[in-house]
Amino acid sequence: MIPIAKPFLDKAEADAAHETVLSGWLSQGPQVVAFEREFAALVGAPHACAVSNCTTALHLALLTLGIGAGDEVITASHSFIASANSIRYCGATPVFVDIDPATYNLDPACVADAITERTRAILVVHQMGMPCELVSLTALAERHGIAVIEDAACAIGSQIKIGDKWDLIGKPHGTMACFSFHPRKVITTGEGGMLTTSDSDHNRKLRLWRQHAMDVPDTVRHGSPEVIFEKYLFVGFNYRMTDMQAAIGRKQLERLPNLIARRRTVAARYSELLGSFDGLILPHEPEWARSNWQSYCVRLPDGIDQRTVMQNLLDKGIATRRGIMCAHREAPYAGGEQRHDLHQSELAQDRSILLPIYAQMVEEEQVRVANALQSELERVRV
Ligand SMILES: *Cc1c(COP(=O)(O)O)cnc(C)c1O
Repeated sequence: MIPIAKPFLDKAEADAAHETVLSGWLSQGPQVVAFEREFAALVGAPHACAVSNCTTALHLALLTLGIGAGDEVITASHSFIASANSIRYCGATPVFVDIDPATYNLDPACVADAITERTRAILVVHQMGMPCELVSLTALAERHGIAVIEDAACAIGSQIKIGDKWDLIGKPHGTMACFSFHPRKVITTGEGGMLTTSDSDHNRKLRLWRQHAMDVPDTVRHGSPEVIFEKYLFVGFNYRMTDMQAAIGRKQLERLPNLIARRRTVAARYSELLGSFDGLILPHEPEWARSNWQSYCVRLPDGIDQRTVMQNLLDKGIATRRGIMCAHREAPYAGGEQRHDLHQSELAQDRSILLPIYAQMVEEEQVRVANALQSELERVRV
């Protein structure tokens, strides 16, 4: 069986978790502090704040900006439902706009058209690890005095060219960036999330929100020679990361450059193998973007049924997924949500499939996937 994805962990991660279990400090302690420091240094952000997952990271990013009832946040419907849900958690309204079919990311012209006097932020998504058009989107946001929150759940290690130099996603370009360490992403801690920002006030607030707005962190209280009484400043949440997760994450960070290099090789090989397939549209990497290839998405030619292709591949032991979901087609958003034309988003969901991709993927597996896909395309043609 060729799975859709496979996390890459070994004894190093197992040992790190083991040692942490025996250390006596299991949650939001020294491992979390070290993981935050190393993550911030890696992406080039002044601050990184660890949380329980990327959904909670998105929630806190919006709360920290004071977004709530009556506010509009522009985002993609064509995303995992967490993007839209995080806006709803705050009582704000997600305003869905369409994507550019070439990159599966927000179309800046559609975003510009959707801005109203109630728009407080653009929640941009680096879908499947491909950087979105951050330069024009941040410029647009700046002109309107609104924030940019990056849903970088899939985009750890992806790069974007700003001027003539390459930055990692997470270096503050927007207001805050949110990452996921779910096993479907490029590195994993089981569950886990991280926020980066250059704003020390945002960083301070994020740390309050994630721990019931307790004004003294445990790490400070624990090391203090004097008795400290803490205060709870407002109604916050428990969105803490555990130290076992952070210890695993630190090992995963060390692997990141190799994992990305491998994934880029696998993606390039797919493009060679599939490049000559009539009517199949391969993913497009703009010259200013370097994807981490969290997913490899191909668009099927017209006249070929998505579900049939996926079933036939599955029968041959090859797992695939359909194109990224559209939130506006799901029950919570099927009613009177504000939405603009979402034709490209729907087409992307209905006409694309994600192929298996992981760092350990070998040539023989890729050839099997390519051959199976080719016979599907040929079968339809006759
Ligand atoms: C995975 C994902 C999320 C949610 O991440 P969790 O860590 O599972 O909460 C949010 N947005 C996008 C685009 C994702 O792919």
